[in-house]
Amino acid sequence: MDKIGFIGLGIMGKPMSKNLIKAGYDLIVFDLVEDAVKEVAECGAKAAGSIAEVAQASDVIVTMLPNSPHVQEVVLGENGVLQNAKPGTIIVDMSSISPVVSKEITAACAEKGVTMLDAPVSGGEPKAKEGTLAIMVGGDEATFEKVEKMLLCMGATAVLVGGPGSGNVTKLANQIIVATNIAGMSEAMVLAKKSGVDPERVFNAIRAGLAGSTVLEMKMPLVLAGNFNPGFRIELHIKDLQNALDASEAVDGETPLSAVIIKMMQELNEEGCGKNDHCGLIKYYEEKTGVECRKSE
Ligand code: NAD
Repeated sequence: MDKIGFIGLGIMGKPMSKNLIKAGYDLIVFDLVEDAVKEVAECGAKAAGSIAEVAQASDVIVTMLPNSPHVQEVVLGENGVLQNAKPGTIIVDMSSISPVVSKEITAACAEKGVTMLDAPVSGGEPKAKEGTLAIMVGGDEATFEKVEKMLLCMGATAVLVGGPGSGNVTKLANQIIVATNIAGMSEAMVLAKKSGVDPERVFNAIRAGLAGSTVLEMKMPLVLAGNFNPGFRIELHIKDLQNALDASEAVDGETPLSAVIIKMMQELNEEGCGKNDHCGLIKYYEEKTGVECRKSE
């Protein structure tokens, strides 16, 4: 069986790598945070001391890093993956990064005989733990077929959307839909509270109707409990919306909703809420109106 390298053991990478171990894959892992490496090694992976060590030992390398500059550094940088990988290695970048950068890195890899797929995910930490992420893949079909089984150990679905970069275009589409859902939920619930109607009852009244959604089901209980632990951090959603605005500009798109919501998130970030879960967007409305949408006693 292929030896899998895994680089980036954060909120998402940790449970994803553990699911690969559970499925029987032979893993070698690395992160800048030593404790994260130790934790995954305790589950059965080999701990690597560097990116080079991972690259030299692996047939397939999964990366799960914050943003484009991190993936550029890890893959293309000095002592990075590309300098150390054997020809024929497959890189599966599961980070959410700019589709433009994804295409550039894929092209640089191809020159060295290394194939790359962009395969960002949706579902957050709970689905990463369950192994039920939605995985959206860009790249060539033959490579996708080689890693599909591995991807399905981390996700409920893995869909090849198109060529290089299209996994990340799909992820941006996903992030626009999630951001507008959370903003809509926040606006609606704060209006209800301001009008003297209990947000929890509003939630129960509307969840089975057309306004029902995965976002409403997963995020409204957190809001009601006042639990803004991430999950998916506001600062990461700002990154995704910025990538969406940049990608939109590059193709003459039209993204006014993303432009408004990123400003709300940036304001919260400046107040120190960047590490809150993105359902903390409701605080933008709560602060402006002086009400809080928490569970009534
Ligand atoms: P995270 O910040 O928790 O984890 C990133 C990890 O990468 C960290 O452990 C960090 O130490 C490591 N890292 C950074 N630079 C490195 C380097 N040069 N070498 C080795 N390791 C390095 O982030 P996360 O929440 O796990 O998200 C990872 C990616 O997945 C992001 O692109 C994010 O947008 C996306 N994503 C996150 C969620 C979520 O709910 N958290 C959901 C879907 C997608």
